[in-house]
Amino acid sequence: MTVPAEQMTALRWHARGVVRLDSVPVPLPGPGQVLLAVEACGLCATDVEEVRSGPVAIQPSAVPVSLGHEAVGRVIALGEGVVGIPLGERVVPALAEPCRECVICRAGMPEECPKKTVIGFDHDGALAQYLVTNAAQCVRVPDHLASEVAALAEPCAVAHHACRVVPHLAGRSAVVVGAGSVGMLVVLWLQELGVSEIAVVEPNEARRKVALSLGAHLAVPPEGLDDLLGRLDDSRPWALFECAGRGGAVLARADQLPPSSWIVLVGISSAPIECDVVAITLRQHTVRGINAHARDLDVLPAVRLLARRCDAVRDLVEVRRGLDAALALLIDGLPSDPPRKIVVVP
Ligand SMILES: [Zn+2]
Ligand SMILES: [Zn+2]
Repeated sequence: MTVPAEQMTALRWHARGVVRLDSVPVPLPGPGQVLLAVEACGLCATDVEEVRSGPVAIQPSAVPVSLGHEAVGRVIALGEGVVGIPLGERVVPALAEPCRECVICRAGMPEECPKKTVIGFDHDGALAQYLVTNAAQCVRVPDHLASEVAALAEPCAVAHHACRVVPHLAGRSAVVVGAGSVGMLVVLWLQELGVSEIAVVEPNEARRKVALSLGAHLAVPPEGLDDLLGRLDDSRPWALFECAGRGGAVLARADQLPPSSWIVLVGISSAPIECDVVAITLRQHTVRGINAHARDLDVLPAVRLLARRCDAVRDLVEVRRGLDAALALLIDGLPSDPPRKIVVVP
């Protein structure tokens, strides 16, 4: 067990375009909290977005704030009153902490809590050597699941949330637009949840191959979208998962979808999008946005899925060592090829 020094290195956001490695005091766990030695943290397009055009999700009052919300850490100190998490346990901290008191939380929708706080945006994140988090937010990582792979838990939880909102999913055909990390993990969930027809739309050929290896039945480039919509089983409703931030391409084709289809928007579009409102109304489609997840509903099943399918998902990850490597990537942008999630070992 490593006993933390007094100071640690953290990759902190100071202002748009200004991120650096700072030496800061190691945080102390308060009541109900644990101190984690960070073992791995995924880099996300959102982090790059914060560096380039933030603050987007960053809370101005939290600045300077350590980035990093796709964390895995080892418990090395317990705050007052923490029971049930032994020292030395590896955990994934669910990134969004609901207030647990408001009407929405009490109605069983913690992911929609208006008062939730988020690691790496509202308070310090995991692109640091150590991280303090509430014990109640932690999900245990099984021994055989490597920390670098467990760092996929956050995108995997987003993917789970996107899938769980669609009723009668197993009886639908599914199309996933965009095979980045979340899109790939949506494919994995769709297969897991019994969807018998899964098609992927993705420009990058290497990513299309990975999507096929994860259980997609068909993978085509964006030019093939119209052709694809014509080829899928038209007799049952569809679920379309937009994970590329090109929602317009999907929403403008609402007239081509069978009645009662679902369009789940996961990727964030940077430009205004056109939408066939008449077709959505007459065909009674549902358009749903996804931008959060909850510990019990999503992170717990995500860690279990990664543990069960660790051989299949290992290839989705590329490890980089050191926070200086993370800093360079956040400034220069994440590579799109090879098509992997970059996971940093601080
Ligand atoms: Zn993210
Ligand atoms: Zn709440």
